[in-house]
Amino acid sequence: MAKIQMTTPLVEMDGDEMTRVIWKMIKDILIDPYVELKTEYYDLGLVHRNETDDQVTVDSANATKKYGVAVKCATITPNAQRVEEYKLKEMWKSPNGTIRAILDGTVFRKPILVNGITPYIPTWTKPITIARHAYGDIYKNTELKAEKGSKAELVITDKDGKETRALIHDFKNSDGIVQGVHNLDDSIGSFARACFNYALDAKEDLWFASKDTISKTYDHRFKDIFAEIYEAEYKAKFEAAGIEYFYTLIDDVVARVIRSEGGFIWACKNYDGDVMSDMLATAFGSLGLMTSVLVSPDGVYEYEAAHGTVTRHYYNYLKGEKTSTNPIATIFAWSGALRKRGELDNIPALCEYADKLEKASVQTMEDGIMDKNLSAMSKLPNKQAVDTETFLKEIAARLDKLLS
Ligand code: NAP
Ligand code: MG
Repeated sequence: MAKIQMTTPLVEMDGDEMTRVIWKMIKDILIDPYVELKTEYYDLGLVHRNETDDQVTVDSANATKKYGVAVKCATITPNAQRVEEYKLKEMWKSPNGTIRAILDGTVFRKPILVNGITPYIPTWTKPITIARHAYGDIYKNTELKAEKGSKAELVITDKDGKETRALIHDFKNSDGIVQGVHNLDDSIGSFARACFNYALDAKEDLWFASKDTISKTYDHRFKDIFAEIYEAEYKAKFEAAGIEYFYTLIDDVVARVIRSEGGFIWACKNYDGDVMSDMLATAFGSLGLMTSVLVSPDGVYEYEAAHGTVTRHYYNYLKGEKTSTNPIATIFAWSGALRKRGELDNIPALCEYADKLEKASVQTMEDGIMDKNLSAMSKLPNKQAVDTETFLKEIAARLDKLLS
């Protein structure tokens, strides 16, 4: 079979540790034999980030803006221990944070559903995608302690120096605490558009919730901005696609999510998304089956796995052991990016290859072949835990059949 040709390069961001090892294996076993890969390669491994003073991360994000699609391997976010381990010049910032700031994106996390791995909620037969607003609120807060006898006020000074004041609390009888948070209409608008676009792309309903009954100015602003943008820019498109935008209160939405069968997108404010995405990942089964894509308001896509570099497995690998690490979420990052490239460049064969790569991956797990962690959770009778390379070769065998 002739290899599938690409026209526009895909931005490839390599990473660290076990996922860097798996990255190469996926390319060798599952992609190179079928696709004449055309990528613009950026090495975001910590060694190279340090050599370039982290410029490579900025360059990779700008390349993503230019070409529109990227695929990213998991990367180390350095802490004090990593500074020591890698002899770093500085404690470089999280690459994902840097990329997100440049692309101004929203992160969508979606679980892969597989027979044999049962969600903790038995009615969830379709995936639930979480979209987290990644700007502001308590993540950019200012906090102070207040002593008994003091008074806390909110003050806004306008451009002419005029002050508007509101009492937060008079700490007459006790010490206490105060917190100031903010958000931006522009950022909320970008978030809303990213969610509406993603819903249209996925042809799934969009749910959004806040606490507007209690927070009548702050949370209500989120509700209003979503409603205004929906009415003006998306209502007709949603109706044509046969999907719905639905707003309710955060406590009501939590109850509805639990009772649902899945199959929708759940847009969350920053804190709600932080908490709820961890809950959903666990409830659906495994981090190794959680995909993640960053979508910018102008339609730029960066695909990755939700999990990290799987450090513990890497140290075993360095000792010469064969590890059993789940490559599925990283494979889906590649298939997602290649499919998007195929859609944008009108290469149906590339989209078909991406679909079949995903199908072969799921078939392999449903035939009982998977990594050790997943196998411990699987309810299949004939399950078999294999090392990563065997797992990938089993997927390739099924992919060959689907493509022939
Ligand atoms: P992690 O790499 O996600 O791994 C945590 C544990 O989850 C692993 O030790 C393993 O459990 C299990 N696991 C995760 N992915 C797996 C897979 N594909 N197959 C099998 N098991 C898997 O998180 P971490 O250990 O907290 O972080 C490690 C490094 O990754 C850190 O340096 C962090 O900065 C980075 N990180 C990067 C990203 C990103 O680039 N997006 C995200 C998160 C973390 P067992 O050990 O029990 O087998
Ligand atoms: Mg969290």
